[in-house]
Amino acid sequence: MQEKDTLHRFIIERTNVRGEWVHLDATWQAVLERADYPDTVRETLGEAMAAVALLAATIKFEGSLILQINGDGPLKMLVVQATGQRTLRGLAHWEGEVPAGDLAARFGNGRIVITIDPGEGKERYQGVVGLIGDNLTEALEDYFERSEQLPTRLWLASDQGSAAGLLLQRLPGAEPDPDAWNRATMLAETVSGEELLGLDASEVLHRLYHEEDVRLFGREPVSFRCTCSRERVEDMIRQLGAEEARGIIEEQGSISVNCDFCNAHYGLDAVDVEKLFTATDHPPVTKTRH
Ligand SMILES: [Zn+2]
Repeated sequence: MQEKDTLHRFIIERTNVRGEWVHLDATWQAVLERADYPDTVRETLGEAMAAVALLAATIKFEGSLILQINGDGPLKMLVVQATGQRTLRGLAHWEGEVPAGDLAARFGNGRIVITIDPGEGKERYQGVVGLIGDNLTEALEDYFERSEQLPTRLWLASDQGSAAGLLLQRLPGAEPDPDAWNRATMLAETVSGEELLGLDASEVLHRLYHEEDVRLFGREPVSFRCTCSRERVEDMIRQLGAEEARGIIEEQGSISVNCDFCNAHYGLDAVDVEKLFTATDHPPVTKTRH
């Protein structure tokens, strides 16, 4: 029985090498249900989902990690968000035919933006790099190199049923086994997409590292969840301003907002809108973070 929607951490004992393995199933299906993605878009989005799940798990935080890729090619935009609670959501926008091939063929001239929002009003961190490489793995590894983060390697795979990935990271500090990082990454180079998608964490790690002393930590469940809410929609309309909002009501009778991530629909009629703008005597609504 394969472990579904699961993240596992592991360490190679007596080295500075740590890693993670992730397998997304229902989480990935929940994303696919909401749009009819062409194969090439689906493949990139699935890999991005696995990558973001892995990257979010490398940092301790309550907030969210967002990977966004924008380009001027047929694949216009891809965004995946993970929270500290191991929830994920993601989507992509495309136009016309998206060819197979490298990232440039799909996204055109593009850039990667990684945003870490620690939540609780703490400062956001944002890193931006040009989109370089044949695939998402190369682009993200390039990002890590340029942003001088810990040495990080990724192996990603996705198909219609699931998305999966493996991450290796070299922790700072004195390395008791100087060859360990080399050895670990060279062995991981031999993992195939079929193995990532078809095997459990323990099977993948046995296949790669049966000669190493690997400690595999317990299962961490991953799930799909959208962070949209009526409250956030109301905040958005407040920011639009009373005049603009009343204008839409006059023209269309109501304000209708659809969430692209989960297809949730939020509708506000004239009374709802007036309530938003007459409640200004009250203290501002505190935002709840999800
Ligand atoms: Zn939503």
